[in-house]
Amino acid sequence: MDNNIVLNIFLTIMKICLHIFLGGINVIYNYITLERPFTGQGCGWVEHKIKVDKVQKQVNSWAGGDRKRKMCTARPVWKSVSVSKTNKSGYYQIDLGNLNDVVEINEEEMTVTVEPGMCIGRLTRILVKKGWTLPVVPEIDYLTVGGLIAGAGLESSSHNYGLFCQCVVETEILMPNGEVLTCSREQNFDLANAIPHSYGTIGFITALKFKMIRAKKYVELDYRFTNTIEDALKLINEGSSRHEFIEGIAYSKEKFLIMFGNMVDTVDPTKGRENPINRWYKKFFYLQVEEIVEKLIEKRNNNQIIEYVPLLQYYHRHSRGMFWLERYANPFFYNSQIFMWLFGCTFPFHIDILGLISRPIYDVLYQSFMIQDFVVPEEKTAKLFNEADKMLNIYPVWMCPARTSETGGCFNIPEKYLNCLYIDLGFYGYPKKNKGDKLNRKPLLRHFEKFCLKNNGYQGLYADCYMSKEEFETMFDFKSFYYKVRKERNCDEAFPTVYDKISAKARNLESDDDMNHKQC
Ligand SMILES: Cc1cc2nc3c(=O)[nH]c(=O)nc-3n(C[C@H](O)[C@H](O)[C@H](O)COP(=O)(O)OP(=O)(O)OC[C@H]3O[C@@H](n4cnc5c(N)ncnc54)[C@H](O)[C@@H]3O)c2cc1C
Repeated sequence: MDNNIVLNIFLTIMKICLHIFLGGINVIYNYITLERPFTGQGCGWVEHKIKVDKVQKQVNSWAGGDRKRKMCTARPVWKSVSVSKTNKSGYYQIDLGNLNDVVEINEEEMTVTVEPGMCIGRLTRILVKKGWTLPVVPEIDYLTVGGLIAGAGLESSSHNYGLFCQCVVETEILMPNGEVLTCSREQNFDLANAIPHSYGTIGFITALKFKMIRAKKYVELDYRFTNTIEDALKLINEGSSRHEFIEGIAYSKEKFLIMFGNMVDTVDPTKGRENPINRWYKKFFYLQVEEIVEKLIEKRNNNQIIEYVPLLQYYHRHSRGMFWLERYANPFFYNSQIFMWLFGCTFPFHIDILGLISRPIYDVLYQSFMIQDFVVPEEKTAKLFNEADKMLNIYPVWMCPARTSETGGCFNIPEKYLNCLYIDLGFYGYPKKNKGDKLNRKPLLRHFEKFCLKNNGYQGLYADCYMSKEEFETMFDFKSFYYKVRKERNCDEAFPTVYDKISAKARNLESDDDMNHKQC
């Protein structure tokens, strides 16, 4: 037998063995961290105060020391979902410890107070069981509520409710002088306004109070096929006033699937069947949707299919496949039904396990790999989509509309776009200029940063950011309130600015424009 064939068989067997080993650990770890069978449902205010006191002591000892180093959280970077990681070695690290519980569910007030380390997947499991949910639920189970507020958060209900931070009614924050403050519309409003998207550069969030809405049992999901970006955007626009959830996936320049969702309590069998999309043997959600696209293309004159998806499974529909990133970890098996029957129960891979394994090799092996979201006004979306098709050719593309408002954190929304739809286009994969050609991602990211700057758009700050400080301050509005709040609240000495924390320059990544132009 050819040596190559033997080697390939050997590598495949090794890979399956490794998958079984890690998958087994993962199943147990997921159960312990998301279901938490050995700990209670919440901690209550007394225990919460004890935890905050411990953090406060650390901040006080920084304040009483030489203050030469700036502060950041001590959370290991491999635990973070964000792609761009801060090098924390030069920082004074504050351990937020086990601030990861529900503090209080107040059904009368329709609010839930949670600690910042709580994963969104754990929170939805608790709330949905009690018949409640949050207005905006980001999909990946392992995103923490603190990271989503200090970072960014947007989801398929954002065309109704705005960004994740807009569901917060009150924030408890530990300031650099050791003071614990409550901020909301009524008190410390300047802080409440500056905390979203501040990347931990104002203070340490210790609790967040969210408004809750009533949960129902299912999401009635209405799948619509269309074959141009213009029609896809038209569908999104028309559906935005009628549906609770909207999301699109573009599989190519001619294949778009738009999903409209509404919460319902019962399945209407005359309209469609129940589909438990996250059951262990089911393919990743985007692959199930792709099969629906094919069915809709076959049907020709009927461009609609309806399914009923259990609510919790809908919320975390992209967790198992990490959108479509899992196909890069499992290139041979990700689309195999037999593989899913045998090993589907091992998904989703917990971010702690993924981070621990993939982080050391990510920067070395994946120079050309791209994970980034660009958000532009609805009227500029077709232009962005076509530009990305030409320059990146990464498919699928995630499409998610969000409504803007004046309280959208640091987003510098021009007046003419206030209360309008912006569309998030997410690109996760290898850019291919020509088929098979792999390019360095940096010049391409730079190209789209400039595109966003010219077109009133934004890029996700959770991934690489190559902008100069001036460009950064043009894209995001940190000038009108953030710098002022930092100065007035003595944050300058305690924390770097957002730019100095997350930009490529701050992380010593290459940012050479001339090189970028040559390669683009
Ligand atoms: C694969 C992938 C999928 C994603 N999917 C989604 C999605 O579905 N929806 C969505 O909205 N976004 C998504 N994102 C983006 C994501 O929202 C951001 O990366 C988010 O900030 C990550 O949260 P985290 O819990 O990992 O926080 P971290 O990355 O650990 O933290 C983010 C920032 O918040 C700060 N921070 C954290 N806790 C505190 C605290 N208690 N006090 C002060 N500062 C704090 C940290 O210092 C850091 O600067 C995705 C990103 C990736 C890479």
